[in-house]
Amino acid sequence: MAAQETVEHKYVYDFAEGNKDLKDLLGGKGANLAEMTNLGLPVPPGFTITTEACKAYLTTGREPDGLAAQIEAHLESLEREMGRKLGDPQDPLLVSVRSGAKFSMPGMMETVLNVGLNDRSVVGLSAQAGGNDRFAWDSYRRLIQMFGKTVCEVPGEEFEHALDDAKRAKGTQNDLDLDADDLRGLVDAYKKIFAKHTGREFPQEPREQLDLAIRAVFESWNAERAVVYRRQERIPADLGTAVNVVAMVFGNLGADSGTGVAFTRDPGSGAQGIYGDYLANAQGEDVVAGIRNTVPLQELEQIDKKSYDELLDYMARLEEHYKDLCDIEFTIERGKLWMLQTRVGKRTAAAAFVIAGQLVDEGLIDLDEALHRVNGAQLAQLMFPRFRLDHEFQPVAKGIGASPGAASGKVVFTSARAVELAAEGESVILVRRETNPDDLNGMIAAKGILTSRGGKTSHAAVVARGMGKTCVSGADELDVNVPAKKFIVAGQTVNEGDVVSIDGTTGKVYLGEVPVMPSEVVQYFEGSLDPEHIDNPLVRAVHRIMTHADAKRRLLVRTNADTGADAARARRFGAEGIGLCRTEHMFLGDRRELVERLILASTDEEREAALAALLPLQREDFIDIFREMDGLPVTVRLIDPPLHEFLPPLEQLAVNVAVAQERGEDVAKEEALLAAVRRMHEENPMLGLRGVRLGLVIPGLFAMQVRAIAEAAVEVTRSGGSACPEIMVPLVGAVQELETVRAEAEKIIAEVVGDSGVEVLIGTMIEVPRAALTAGQIAEAAQFFSFGTNDLTQMGWGFSRDDVEGAFFWRYLELGIFGISPFESIDREGVGRLVRIAAEEGRAARPGLKLGVCGEHGGDPDSVHFFHEVGLDYVSCSPFRVPVARLEAGRAAITTTGSDSR
Ligand code: ADP
Ligand code: MG
Ligand code: MG
Repeated sequence: MAAQETVEHKYVYDFAEGNKDLKDLLGGKGANLAEMTNLGLPVPPGFTITTEACKAYLTTGREPDGLAAQIEAHLESLEREMGRKLGDPQDPLLVSVRSGAKFSMPGMMETVLNVGLNDRSVVGLSAQAGGNDRFAWDSYRRLIQMFGKTVCEVPGEEFEHALDDAKRAKGTQNDLDLDADDLRGLVDAYKKIFAKHTGREFPQEPREQLDLAIRAVFESWNAERAVVYRRQERIPADLGTAVNVVAMVFGNLGADSGTGVAFTRDPGSGAQGIYGDYLANAQGEDVVAGIRNTVPLQELEQIDKKSYDELLDYMARLEEHYKDLCDIEFTIERGKLWMLQTRVGKRTAAAAFVIAGQLVDEGLIDLDEALHRVNGAQLAQLMFPRFRLDHEFQPVAKGIGASPGAASGKVVFTSARAVELAAEGESVILVRRETNPDDLNGMIAAKGILTSRGGKTSHAAVVARGMGKTCVSGADELDVNVPAKKFIVAGQTVNEGDVVSIDGTTGKVYLGEVPVMPSEVVQYFEGSLDPEHIDNPLVRAVHRIMTHADAKRRLLVRTNADTGADAARARRFGAEGIGLCRTEHMFLGDRRELVERLILASTDEEREAALAALLPLQREDFIDIFREMDGLPVTVRLIDPPLHEFLPPLEQLAVNVAVAQERGEDVAKEEALLAAVRRMHEENPMLGLRGVRLGLVIPGLFAMQVRAIAEAAVEVTRSGGSACPEIMVPLVGAVQELETVRAEAEKIIAEVVGDSGVEVLIGTMIEVPRAALTAGQIAEAAQFFSFGTNDLTQMGWGFSRDDVEGAFFWRYLELGIFGISPFESIDREGVGRLVRIAAEEGRAARPGLKLGVCGEHGGDPDSVHFFHEVGLDYVSCSPFRVPVARLEAGRAAITTTGSDSR
């Protein structure tokens, strides 16, 4: 704000002044309290101090000018409305001071209830409640407890212990058995605890209590747990929290009072109905704190029918209004219902789909909005196999669901042991306090990874997600002792070799083997469940929303598939062609022999003989794939990896030769091989002789592949099918490379294709930064581009993927150098810019140039949106990601004003 600004900045809003769309300014809680107030629901009066005031406080370390006076003015009008003054000794107004950021951060920040109580107003409060001393002292002890803990950092256990002591002295477990005298005694004990830890008496001045509580809420934004939570949930660090000051209503006035939470639908399954918990004679936090057993919300009907009916009515109105699942907090004060909070509720992935489908049925939202409210990450979750948890299994610990999936296996504590046991065919779960780069081999060998420390960006989490491996991190109830090869959890010792099961979605850990069941959603995609005729609400909802996504999306979705079987499966998942068919696996297995002959050939004849032997094998590979993808385009990438990958490792070969020589055996062939391997050794193979470079150096190699592709296409087409091959040249950096390959390929194609009607396109990958930057020239020679964003990311950042992910990505994530691995989600600003440049300049040179992406980003939700924006024609991804890409491509294509439902 400019210094000469004369209009005073507005930092405080009465509930009547706000609305639900002001979440940035008023936080979610404040905006929704305002919305309910304006809807005429019974919300206790109050006001909201803005996130801007919080940000100003956090940057300057003091309350901004004007804030104190605005609070004063709003407090006065609240006092007038309530007919009481804050902390008045005769008839006190009490308030709660509640945090509330734009995105809900459950349990992360602070709330203080009963502000305004002191040694004198506690008497007035009792009188106000008709001489209910017990209630008044109960409220006072709660204030000291919450204020001490959240405002002055007094360790919470001290208060809990004092409360336990009081209950023990009374010979009870139940806090309701404590009478007014007991609670008065407890207040004394609490005050002593307060004084001991803060070096001062509990503040008696109501306004000072209020100001300190507001300041504590501001500061709670930067509390460590809030910082960690935000990082995990990718909530920006600079939003700040609002503060709500709300007139207190009391659920702890007796049996005709109470407090509860409610959901308008089941947030677990999405089923319609009334879900919630109620606790009589209690205040706010008691419900979630679990101090007494709550009753199911339905029972409120017996306890207080009038309030129950009224609540149901408000719940229906809120759903109608927000057009979504609402999550509600309420309190009943002597038979009068008060609404204390609402928000669009969090839900499981399954509930998200089911609810979106129901709301369409109910006419509350349209299909575009339903599509907007689900996402690819949720769909991906629903596609993992799940544990069948219908019987005895209880989790023994809960960590962070760091990488989804369900895995059971024998516990091991070292990477070496994991590798050993896995080699014997065992499923193993690698358990560590935290992993480090030395554990990489063990992580690869393990079925799942379980750590007792670290969050979603720890080494274990990052690497496991990169590998698509199930991982639970930060299960801090586990006491892991690696040297002793055991861990202790819930009083039980788990030794190496014992079986555990981990759920990478929920973060839960089970002892023993939990049976796994396949996902119904996958069964549906595979065609074994008919969505119209089954009674599974989830499958029906998924079907409906996917159908809409398909109707709306502009991006086509292809798959990466190297075999006919993969192609067939991907097709069932909805793939509209193959965007990347790798040919290197076709050179492995029992074909290695031929490849060695090719590489070792010392004459043209030897080399040609090897290629001639490979040709029919390759042709069969392609025939199989073209048949499965009948009528759809298949992009075949010519051989890409460095040749030494097809030869035995240098060390092993050297040892073999030495041993054989020792024994006096004939080693001429091995020696030749060894010499070839030495000759081909590269310091940086990923930047060496590979891709198009191979084709230019080894005569006849690409020609053989081109011929095999063309012959396969002709054969499939002649036998009544329709093959649409697209030949893709990898690692091109300069148009001349492509022109050379293309000239040779076109000759072969013309010769093979003849009058068969087969059309073969020739294009290139864009995966070297130079290719992106000279895309205008390259487009002159290419009929299509396919962005290889894995290599483009490697070369754009100068990262060797295999080295960096295990070595230091966790640190980069921790430091916030990036919010997510650039191999997981495309780096829009850097690598994405290369894609944008190449797309624009390529299309400028050749209008209508076909553009696609075949890196793993093709199945990543955020990246799919980016590729839609850049105007690509299709994305290509692994078969399992095809439905995710279809959904996200649909979401990218619709624009709605829907709510931000984080
Ligand atoms: P959280 O964000 O952790 O849910 P809240 O600010 O909602 O924290 O407050 C915690 C509890 O205190 C809630 O159960 C809420 O209903 C209760 N509460 C907050 N303000 C009041 C009030 N003015 N009167 C009665 N109960 C309140
Ligand atoms: Mg709280
Ligand atoms: Mg709340």
